[in-house]
Amino acid sequence: MNGESLFRCPVCARPLIRTDRTYKCGKNHIFDISAQGYVNLLGAGDKHSRFPGDDKEMARARRDFLSGGHYGPLAAELSRLALCFAPGDAAVVDAGCGEGYYTAAVFDALTKDGRAVRAAGLDISKFILKYAAKRAPGIEFAVASSYKMPLADGCADVLINCFSPLALSEFGRVLKPGGIFIYVVPGRRHLYELKEILYDEPYENEEKLTPYEGFSYKTVAPVRTSFTLTSGAEIENLFKMTPYYWKTPRAGRERLRAMERLDITAEFNIHVFGKDV
Ligand SMILES: [Zn+2]
Repeated sequence: MNGESLFRCPVCARPLIRTDRTYKCGKNHIFDISAQGYVNLLGAGDKHSRFPGDDKEMARARRDFLSGGHYGPLAAELSRLALCFAPGDAAVVDAGCGEGYYTAAVFDALTKDGRAVRAAGLDISKFILKYAAKRAPGIEFAVASSYKMPLADGCADVLINCFSPLALSEFGRVLKPGGIFIYVVPGRRHLYELKEILYDEPYENEEKLTPYEGFSYKTVAPVRTSFTLTSGAEIENLFKMTPYYWKTPRAGRERLRAMERLDITAEFNIHVFGKDV
């Protein structure tokens, strides 16, 4: 991966050259690569994000849950869609990439198909990127905000956004004309069994098509999968990955903590858009 990076200097926006230990631009701005392999490209003033991202404990919960393979069907469908819609060789950006689970799945699928792939993942949480960089050493990972990505205009053929903040104007900026935007949102009954435990009156998610200016729909692919969590720790890991972790009343949390087994269904809709030419 050494050589010209997909990332740009967050200070002066010039191209960055990656070596074993640093990223460096032509104006001699230097960014160290961490022991785990990610780089911090958060610009001054970007730290007060509206989305502080996963803390250490949440990062571990997410990594442990995804390692269980329960969301494998989503990774498989994302890979299928990338194979279907990406041009031959492709630059892939995952905005809000978390532990790189989906980034790595798409990267591997395209690579195994014989394509030259460059991939970069960004997340605001350095704790989660430690796992990402370990999981996928062939992918560049940087701490950065989705609202101000250290990437050149029109550098990406594919942009993935999976359960993470929607920064549409930035996504449009970094995608090439004709580039593909893959956007994952929860389906109608996503984790409904969990909500039934947490809330007295659980609600279903709204499902709708949302046209975005500058993008045109290619397809919407639903993914539905059921699995069983067989320990309190597994249930807690899933709970920590959800937004409900922040807004569940105490009684609901206590009902969930008492559980040792949970049959649950995950539903996603993958919206695929093309950036208008
Ligand atoms: Zn620079």
